[in-house]
Order: sequence, then C-alpha cells, then structure tokens
Amino acid sequence: MSQEQCDVLVVGAGVAGLAAAVAAGKEGAKTILVEQSSVIGGTATRGMLRQICGLYPAGAAGPSSTLNSGMCRQVADALNEAWSFSRPLERGRVLVLPFRTTDLTSCFSEWLRAAGVECFFETRVTGVQTGGRTIVEVMARGAEGPQSFFPAAVVDCTGDAAVARLCGAAEDKAGLPRRQMAGYVMRLRELNAVASLVLQVPWVLARGVAKKQLPPAARWTTLEAGDAEDEGYLKLSVPPESANASFEIEAERVVAWLREALPSFAQARVAAASGVLEREGSRLSGEYELTEEDVLRGRKQADRAASGAWPVELWDPERGFILRHLDGAEYYDIPLSCLRSRGLQNLWAGGRCISATPEAMGSARVMGVCFATGEAAGRGAAAWAGRR
Ligand SMILES: Cc1cc2nc3c(=O)[nH]c(=O)nc-3n(C[C@H](O)[C@H](O)[C@H](O)COP(=O)(O)OP(=O)(O)OC[C@H]3O[C@@H](n4cnc5c(N)ncnc54)[C@H](O)[C@@H]3O)c2cc1C
Repeated sequence: MSQEQCDVLVVGAGVAGLAAAVAAGKEGAKTILVEQSSVIGGTATRGMLRQICGLYPAGAAGPSSTLNSGMCRQVADALNEAWSFSRPLERGRVLVLPFRTTDLTSCFSEWLRAAGVECFFETRVTGVQTGGRTIVEVMARGAEGPQSFFPAAVVDCTGDAAVARLCGAAEDKAGLPRRQMAGYVMRLRELNAVASLVLQVPWVLARGVAKKQLPPAARWTTLEAGDAEDEGYLKLSVPPESANASFEIEAERVVAWLREALPSFAQARVAAASGVLEREGSRLSGEYELTEEDVLRGRKQADRAASGAWPVELWDPERGFILRHLDGAEYYDIPLSCLRSRGLQNLWAGGRCISATPEAMGSARVMGVCFATGEAAGRGAAAWAGRR
C-alpha cells in the first residue's frame, strides 16, 4: 500500500478543488489533489458548461471587474486571454462569462504544476480515520490499489461532502423541503436552423407534455446554440425520482420525439452526453450555515471568505426554474465559518459542500462562487497546517 504525507489534501478536482489546491500550493503547503475520475473540472467538464455564473456583480465593466479578486480575477483574465470572446454577457439582471472548458482545464493544469501540487487521478477516497477532533488518515482506492494519505489538513471539494460524510461531519439537507431537479446535458450535431430551434424546442416539448406524450419534467428542457453551425446543447431537467443511470433512456426518448416533431431536428445526432448531474447533495456541518436571508439581504460578515451576487436559483420539480434576486444589495458575504467543520478542526470545505441551506446553496453553488470558496478553503487549510 502506498502512503503519502502532506500539509493539505484536497479531495475533488472540480472548480472548487482546483482553486483550493492551487491556493494551498501557492501558500507553500505540500499539497496533494485526489480525484476519482481521470479529468479535472468536475461538473463543469462533465456538463460541457459554457458560461461561468456568479463571477460579476451587476453592472461590471469588463472581464477583470470580478466581485472576488484572487483566483476569480485570475480565471477571468486567463480565459479572456485564451479566447477573445470571453467577455461578460448580460442575461437579464445578471452577467455571465462565456468560456471553453478546454481553456479552463489547460489554465488550471498549468497553475497546478506551477504551485507544485501533486495530483492523484482515478483515486477515490473511501475512508477516513479520526483521532479526537482531527482527521489523521484518509484512505483511498486508486488504479494501483489502496492508498493512504496522512494530511495535516483536508479540504473536501467532492460536491457532496464525501469526506465529511465518511467521518460523520456532514448533513444531507438537500431534500428539504423538496430536492431540486438534477440536469442532463447532450451535445447534438447535425441540427438545422439552430437559432429557430432554440425557440421551438421548449415550445413543442411543452405541447408534448400537455398531450401526455412526454414526462412532465420534459417541459423544463432548453436548447442552447453551440459553436459550430449545426451544434446545440440540449439541457434536460431530471426530477429526483428519475436521477439514476436509466435516465439516459428517457433522454434518448425526448431526442427521438423531437426528431419526429421538428424537421430541423430530424437528423440530430447525440455527440456526447453528461450523465445525471446533481445540483445539490450533502454538505459540511459547518460552524455557521449560510441562509437565504444572508444572501437576499446582502449580509456582510466579519470573517468574510468570499462574496456572492448570484440570485437564489432553484430547480423545483413542480414549478421549474425559480430565481430570487438580492433584495437591493449588490452582494453578500460567505464567512470562513461556513467552510470550517463544526466538529473536526482540520477539515475544510469548498464549492458545493460548504455549509449552507438549500436556498443559500442555490446561489453559492455557481462556478464563480465555487472558485472563491475553494480558494479561501485552500488558503485557510494551508495556514492551519503551517501553524501546527
Ligand atoms: C446541470 C447543471 C448545469 C449547471 N450550469 C452552470 C452554468 O452554466 N454556470 C455555472 O457557473 N454553474 C453551473 N452549474 C453549477 C456548477 O457547475 C457546479 O455547482 C460547480 O461546478 C460545482 O463545483 P464543485 O467543484 O463544488 O463540485 P463538482 O464539480 O461536483 O466536483 C466535485 C469533484 O469531486 C470528485 N469526487 C467526488 N467524490 C470523490 C471521492 N470520494 N474521491 C475523489 N474524488 C471525488 C468528483 O469526481 C468531481 O470531479 C450547473 C450545475 C448543474 C448540475
């Protein structure tokens, strides 16, 4: 069995874990990043996402005017340099930054290298050993068998608090009051007249649902134009009861139905599919739990770790997409105490597993905020490891 000592162990190489690992490495901590898949980027990569939400306050002037400085600004500047189309775009009352996942992952690959982070891919964390109020060992299974890590501090960026769950330091609040719909993204080719399909697809699907030819959640489907002329991204919503591997069959059924219903869709071919992407899961039991009131009232916090400005975005199985904007405030703060475990002194969290109610998570889970909470958690963990 291989054994590794380190200052900071970051688990999960989604956007939060990448930011955490780079930040910890830059602080001079011996940092290891463990990821169960073979690629970086997590949901952003699997979901073939194309817009970073939550990077900007309303009215931001240009790519560099990010709400959080540090990693968020570095990401915005690097994406803008890699692709000149990467400028903030208005979407109603919010701003998003278009990006290509390949640019994002190549920037982070370079930054991980520069920060001296050692990466273990295809390595899944399966167990945690605690002693008193401290994690002493993290067990994992990699391609070459079992592996043990002995970190001074751990940052859980697994999206569903996998590390915290393994040591009883997590809560599953995701089902309260109603679990949000997950997503399923398909990249389609050989579409005709994509711009008109963008309008037609939701409309004909709603008609199909009304006639009971399609399941109710099909009415929350959208089509987004891709970069190539014949390309589009079909985004389906997955109700809690269908969020399993067999959803692929339901998704294929929707595509088949659209081929019949719309001549411009008749030749559509599925080039890639994301699998089911959960919006929320378990979260860290933190010292403080961020609430919807904190978000909507724009509450400022003394131990600020990051700020957010994205509205509370919920995907309700019955009502569909719901947005609740901040109540007159420009932004709210996320305190460091949401990133720190209540019970274990060397456990931190970033991204989708920070301590927040389901509604507050509806704002804090977008990529722009995940970069910031991941960075703060990585930095906090490195400082804690350095003080030991
Ligand atoms: C359908 C959908 C569409 C979205 N669209 C957008 C959008 O357009 N713009 C936007 O800004 N946000 C969007 N979001 C939200 C955003 O993409 C995610 O919330 C964010 O990327 C989460 O990042 P993360 O790093 O916290 O977690 P994740 O991306 O979930 O990363 C967690 C990583 O941990 C790894 N992992 C998990 N368990 C283990 C383990 N035991 N051992 C080792 N590794 C493990 C996983 O493999 C994964 O790589 C969307 C979300 C969904 C579901």
